[in-house]
Order: sequence, then C-alpha cells, then structure tokens
Amino acid sequence: MFLRGEFSHFFYIFLLKKAILCPVSFHPFRHFVTITRHRHEVIRLCFQAGIGFQGLFHDLSKYSPTEFIPGAKYYTGNQSPNNGERNDKGYSLAWMHHKGRNKHHFEFWYDYEMATKKIVPMDMPDRYIKEMFCDRVAASKTYNRAAYTQESPLLYLTRSSAHEKMTRKTYRKLLYLLQMLAEKGERETLRFMRRTQVLPEADVAEPLGTEPAKL
Ligand SMILES: [Zn+2]
Repeated sequence: MFLRGEFSHFFYIFLLKKAILCPVSFHPFRHFVTITRHRHEVIRLCFQAGIGFQGLFHDLSKYSPTEFIPGAKYYTGNQSPNNGERNDKGYSLAWMHHKGRNKHHFEFWYDYEMATKKIVPMDMPDRYIKEMFCDRVAASKTYNRAAYTQESPLLYLTRSSAHEKMTRKTYRKLLYLLQMLAEKGERETLRFMRRTQVLPEADVAEPLGTEPAKL
C-alpha cells in the first residue's frame, strides 16, 4: 500500500497491538473504511467535475501515521475524530498536519501579508474550490445519512462562520456552486463545473458580516 519496508512493519505491528490491548477505543479498521469510503465518493464527484486526476490524491495524508493513529484512536463514527483529539490534548495535531498538506481546505491558504505581517486568507485557485465543493458534498452525505438533501451542504455553509475565514472571492465562488446544487441538483452542477474554468461569484448583499479575521 502506501507504506513500505521496515517502517510499515513497525506501523502495522503497532496497530495490531493497539487493537488487541484496547479494542473499545481504537478502531483502525472502521476508521480505514470511513476515510476510504469518503475518498472514493470525492474521487467520483471530482471526475464528474472535470478534476479527476486531482481527485485521485484527495486526502491521501489521512493514511500517514500522524493522521491515521489519532483518527483510529478518537473514532466515533458520527463526528470528526479531530474533535476527540482536541478535547483530549487541547489541539489536534492530525488536523494541523492535514490542513498543511491538502490544498482543498481554505485553512491551507493562509499566509503572511507583507505589509502588516499578519496571517490572512488568500484567494483559492478555482480547481481547489471545486475539490472543496466535492469534499463538502461527500461529507454532508456521510454525516446527514438519510436526512441528506441537495440543500444540506448549502445550509452547512451559510450556518457556519466560514465567510469570516475565507476571502470574499473564495466564499462567493463556493456559495455560487452550493446554491446551484440546492436549486438544480448534483448532475447539473457537476456538468457546469466540468465546463467552467473560471468560476462565477454569487451575488451577496453587503455587508456579509465581518472581513476575514487577521490573526
Ligand atoms: Zn481533506
């Protein structure tokens, strides 16, 4: 698979020991199935959105020990294991490892602004906004199960404080796609994404809220 040689031997023995010693709170197999199912759904959506090759690399870092071990340790089946790690340690190293390597997360796109030396959001390239859309649709299906509708990912975005954390351009482009999904459905939205290189921005009444926070 993704790990080879001495290291993989050590890693899988470690997993086996953990599984035998604490079967209740360590779920490597269930976690593996959860992340792999999610990846496959995102890959399917990415191919339909015209970014199939990019989709093949989606979330691969989740199989690295830094992300996989906490993922299995804090597995619950109905929420992100990162929250379990946060409750335990006060921070989630798995999440920080993840967001630093995966460009489909807006949290990746933070950098220093030269003039102020503050850490601010940057505009995301459209191909990563498309992958973020696919990720959110797949995650929404998993978390909502039978209650999922084509409006669910839009509601999740608009009820969150995400607009404070992305640039206005990034937020409006994502909003445009999620509004189209809510109105016209998955097939039509994915077809639109396949044919559109430069994503349009949703019309949002000003003020949208606060400007993105400067850290
Ligand atoms: Zn991800």
